[in-house]
Amino acid sequence: MAQLGAQSGAQSRPGNGRKTRIVMKFGGTSVANIERINAVAARVKREVDAGHEVAVVVSAMSGHTNQLVAWCSEISPMHDAREYDTVVASGEQVTAGLTAIALQTLGVNARSWLGWQMPMLTNDAHGKARIMSIDAEGFEKRFAQGQVAVVAGFQGIGPDNRITTLGRGGSDTSAVALAAALKADRCDIFTDVDGVYTTDPRIVAKARKLDKVTYEEMLEMASLGAKVLQIRSVEMAMKHGVRVQVLSSFEDKPGTLVVNEDEIMEQELVSGIAYSRDEAKITLVAVPDRPGVAASIFGPLSDANINVDMIVQNVSEDGKNTDMTFTVSKGDFERAKQVLTGKQNSLNFRTLISDSNVVKVSVIGVGMRSHAGIAQRMFRALAEKGINIQVISTSEIKISVLVAEEYTELAVRALHTAYGLDAE
Ligand code: ADP
Ligand code: ASP
Ligand code: MG
Repeated sequence: MAQLGAQSGAQSRPGNGRKTRIVMKFGGTSVANIERINAVAARVKREVDAGHEVAVVVSAMSGHTNQLVAWCSEISPMHDAREYDTVVASGEQVTAGLTAIALQTLGVNARSWLGWQMPMLTNDAHGKARIMSIDAEGFEKRFAQGQVAVVAGFQGIGPDNRITTLGRGGSDTSAVALAAALKADRCDIFTDVDGVYTTDPRIVAKARKLDKVTYEEMLEMASLGAKVLQIRSVEMAMKHGVRVQVLSSFEDKPGTLVVNEDEIMEQELVSGIAYSRDEAKITLVAVPDRPGVAASIFGPLSDANINVDMIVQNVSEDGKNTDMTFTVSKGDFERAKQVLTGKQNSLNFRTLISDSNVVKVSVIGVGMRSHAGIAQRMFRALAEKGINIQVISTSEIKISVLVAEEYTELAVRALHTAYGLDAE
């Protein structure tokens, strides 16, 4: 069984004269209806006819997972995460079976695989499980017989022997993990855009397609909201040296390669702008300004499996009380408020103010390490558009700001222009 914790090195698969092995992942829009599933099958058949060994990973039909999530929440916003996984994993079961049928109809030997059948073992963090290992042995035998494996993305099986899911967008991670376990030569991620752009091409018409992007930058872009690849898929690709390409499932042309830094000749100062609407802001007003206060606020949130992102703590005027502002994902917002108000007496804050009408906009670039003035350009560009910055956070290769959600497009476009990223 391939242990994904270890360094396996996808490009180190031995053997001369061996067949090229590829993993092809198709996202929701690529399998949105029967016509598209048939087109996917035809695309896969081309690779099979070229003599390659192919594993296909599919997402649910677009919109399907949202519907399943909504049904769980409609019955109960605080539903059992194990049952949530049982429900939302079903979308991928449908498309895996349909894709296998479509391939068989074209005369291609194919079968579907669900997470528990491989098995793809995960931890027990239902709703956002991590892959621990994949047993790819069953695939080896079938590859030798010329069979295509069609894998249901997004799902695995936990130590409690129950179905788990990998978090939204998790089929990308299924694909990269499988590519690592199979030591595949390539992992092609087919989607509804033809590559990774300097920013979301759906909101900035002048976004530019990148031929190559470094793992590190892609990781930042994904972490900061560019949902074209799930964060964990990029982490995994980086760790195992998987060659990932993002490309269009509708057009036949090269996409964007995710590569090591030394494969990029000229590095731009800023390579991309990302935004995330999945943010909500919470302020605890007048918490006591004393050692241990942050631990007592964030401890219970972490115990409740709630990730906190941006944090600001103000200096207290009187040395007694201070305000603490931080952000959580929209999905955790209600729970976070509930956890904190339940502890109002022990935390001793005056009131809790919250706002989910916010967006995080970020500027990313490895060139930032060695250049000053990047942040200033961001603040000026936003000021010129009259956009108020609510929270700022920085790291070595990114600057993020929190602004009101209605400014999303305006802010992203203004920054794209300010950093000279606009296409000719
Ligand atoms: P799939 O269903 O194929 O997994 P997703 O919707 O998860 O597709 O991801 C593709 C979407 O990512 C695109 O339609 C695009 O709107 C969005 N996106 C956000 N940022 C970027 C970016 N920098 N480059 C390309 N696409 C981006
Ligand atoms: N269907 C799942 C989702 O919508 C997984 C994926 O598409 O990658 O999040
Ligand atoms: Mg996706």
